[in-house]
Amino acid sequence: MKILAIGRNYLDHARELNNPVPKEPVVFLKPETALVKDNKPFFYPDFSKEIHHEVEVVLRICKVGKYIDEKFAHRYYDQLTVGIDFTARDLQRDAKEKGLPWEIAKGFDGSAPVGRFIKVRDIRDVHRMMFGLMLNDKRVQEGNTIDMIFSFERIIAYISRFFTLQMGDLIYTGTPVGVGPVAVGDHLVADIEGETLLDFYIK
Ligand code: MG
Repeated sequence: MKILAIGRNYLDHARELNNPVPKEPVVFLKPETALVKDNKPFFYPDFSKEIHHEVEVVLRICKVGKYIDEKFAHRYYDQLTVGIDFTARDLQRDAKEKGLPWEIAKGFDGSAPVGRFIKVRDIRDVHRMMFGLMLNDKRVQEGNTIDMIFSFERIIAYISRFFTLQMGDLIYTGTPVGVGPVAVGDHLVADIEGETLLDFYIK
């Protein structure tokens, strides 16, 4: 399986990092070794002093597809959850300044915790869905999928032009405003429509 991720998909977040608003989805990948499941802890790595949380809706692909038409794209994901796109912001800033790729800032071990998946058909409206993150009992991020620049369907259509999507692939769909640093000992709890799906500690 592979993990695909979209950057700058919420206007307010693009602005908070002084990034231009993209005309097409900004796509990057994380390797399978980035995945953390079952509320296992995130181990703060020694190569960064500025690990940021980015809470995101994560789609699970349910069938193989390439050149998927946007109007059929909803058939290609049947489950979703919340995840954290952990980012070594110091390494990312350095890479951006030099015009270099982001992989070590975005795809390192443990950089992709995912919550418990729920079925899309059990959600009232995935295109008008609240999600958010509590950091040590304080609400630090909250988003609504209605504010996405590129919809789930647009993302799937776009990505599948370049990468064949396979069953079990995950897509991180971008973070809303409010990203910030985490520290050892922090407790992170993420939810969709008020339902806790991810709950873990930084060690
Ligand atoms: Mg992100």
